[in-house]
Amino acid sequence: MIVVMNPNAAQASIDRVVSEIERMGSTAHLSRGQFRTVIGAVGEEGQLDQNHLASLDGVEKVVPIMKPYKLASREFHDEDSVVIVGGGRSVMGGDVPAVKVGGTHAACIAGPCAVENEQMLNKIARHVRDGGATILRGGAFKPRTSPYSFQGHGETALKWMRTCGDELGMPICTEVMDTRQVELIEKYTDMFQIGARNMQNFDLLREVGKTRKPVLLKRGLAATVKDWLLSAEYVLSQGNRGVVLCERGIKTFEDSIRYTMDITSIPVAKQWSHLPIIVDPSHAAGKRDWVPALALAGMAAGAHGIIVEVHYNPAEAQCDGPQALLPETFKTLMGQLRQIAAVTQKEFAEAGQLV
Ligand code: PEP
Ligand code: MN
Repeated sequence: MIVVMNPNAAQASIDRVVSEIERMGSTAHLSRGQFRTVIGAVGEEGQLDQNHLASLDGVEKVVPIMKPYKLASREFHDEDSVVIVGGGRSVMGGDVPAVKVGGTHAACIAGPCAVENEQMLNKIARHVRDGGATILRGGAFKPRTSPYSFQGHGETALKWMRTCGDELGMPICTEVMDTRQVELIEKYTDMFQIGARNMQNFDLLREVGKTRKPVLLKRGLAATVKDWLLSAEYVLSQGNRGVVLCERGIKTFEDSIRYTMDITSIPVAKQWSHLPIIVDPSHAAGKRDWVPALALAGMAAGAHGIIVEVHYNPAEAQCDGPQALLPETFKTLMGQLRQIAAVTQKEFAEAGQLV
């Protein structure tokens, strides 16, 4: 349930409500809006004495949250959340810029599917930065359908990513597949990516939820929007507020494309949740020819940006070559995305000049 405080409730009243919620065995989550504070009390149902909470000083009302996902819902947090990726100093000593995603802030995450070698990563990273991306993507641990396909270079690739991101002034985003990798990846990355196949790996969601690094949560291949928001709830329930949703296409009967990008999920998720949402046109399309149209459609539907795969020589790529955009196409696409973003009252940050 949520405890809505009076517009001018004193901090002492807020603290009292929090301590009463905790005394009753639930967790209190604060949402400070422009005008008032809302306190979410999350725990097992039936533990909370609603009348007691309603009687406390500074409390306007106590209302149950109807949605099964509580902290992810608009009922708990009315305004769009803005998630900050990066900022601060990296493990290798570099200054990492902070990139905002959500609300009026759109962001572009781009790079190779997998980090194949250092030289290739550096080259692609320069291309995407030059084209307007502000966050670098790349897989160090790859979820592959076949156990005999390239599985990624692991920690070596994380080091290459970190060094490259630091050099170019780009926060990095990389996939975590298993709870045992969280500690290692947390050390290097600015954003965890939870892949579509892991959207309901609840232990993994809890584990990244315990960190304070933002999480890009891909929609599962056959997950409903509700399932997806419940997965986000696992992360949020651990105190990590930095969840960014990512629509990457779902399985349908259509076989002309790799997956079907569910454009409708964007307005639906935005109505039900305050979390930012971006689209991944690469994995939905599976073929580069169709990637720009899907990216533009996602932005037009209200997404807060894209994550896209780029390669200067896709034929050489060890993973997802057919869907990788060429650097020139990526640059053109970014120009178009900026125009669509303006129509939906959003703005992509400028990457600034390369030094
Ligand atoms: C990826 O981003 O390279 C990836 C494997 O994505 P997904 O989990 O959406 O398939
Ligand atoms: Mn890929």
